[in-house]
Amino acid sequence: MKFVIATHNTHKLEEFERILTPLGVQIALRELSDVEETGETFAENAFLKAESAMKETGLPAIADDSGLMVDALNGAPGVYSARYAGEGGTYDDVIRKLLFEMRDVPEENRTARFVSSICCVFPDGETLRAEGVCEGMIAFEKRGEGGFGYDPVFLVGDRSFAEMTGAEKDAVSHRGRALRAFSKILEERIGKED
Ligand code: IMP
Repeated sequence: MKFVIATHNTHKLEEFERILTPLGVQIALRELSDVEETGETFAENAFLKAESAMKETGLPAIADDSGLMVDALNGAPGVYSARYAGEGGTYDDVIRKLLFEMRDVPEENRTARFVSSICCVFPDGETLRAEGVCEGMIAFEKRGEGGFGYDPVFLVGDRSFAEMTGAEKDAVSHRGRALRAFSKILEERIGKED
């Protein structure tokens, strides 16, 4: 069975392929329309993206909706992580805004977590869901060159996600955890069919 990944984010797609392919999940690449993320939760938005991709392609579709929740900002930027600096804001823009909002927050209060909500919608309407969380801290300045989005300012232990290799990030990341949990649920679902 092949799955379409409901994202236009090439970094996310790379992570999906890197994590899911070794777990035996085959990925089909398709052009997909944009989906308005009108949900109030990661889970709602993941469903909207997966459902739209499934309807467009006729294939089972997997989507992730994810974001950064910062305790000192009462959980912001959350579902607005991509649009934190306004529509069309770059990764540099959102990081600049985050570091500015956090300028007076001392180290001990810079706790944060990344959340990834995975949703898979099958052509028969069945839906599988999984979630992954990665706890960390917001750095005082950007560190590292790898990754995407908030990676340079999200610390796990003494390294930012942008200072890790892809494999190191996947081992602890929200998306890595969510996709490994998802693949277990998928195995059980496929097992039931046999
Ligand atoms: P989505 O496409 O609406 O799920 O947007 C997710 C946004 O959250 C991205 O644009 C990033 O800003 C941020 N984000 C999610 N996952 C990661 C990650 O693994 N590293 C860095 N930023 C992330």
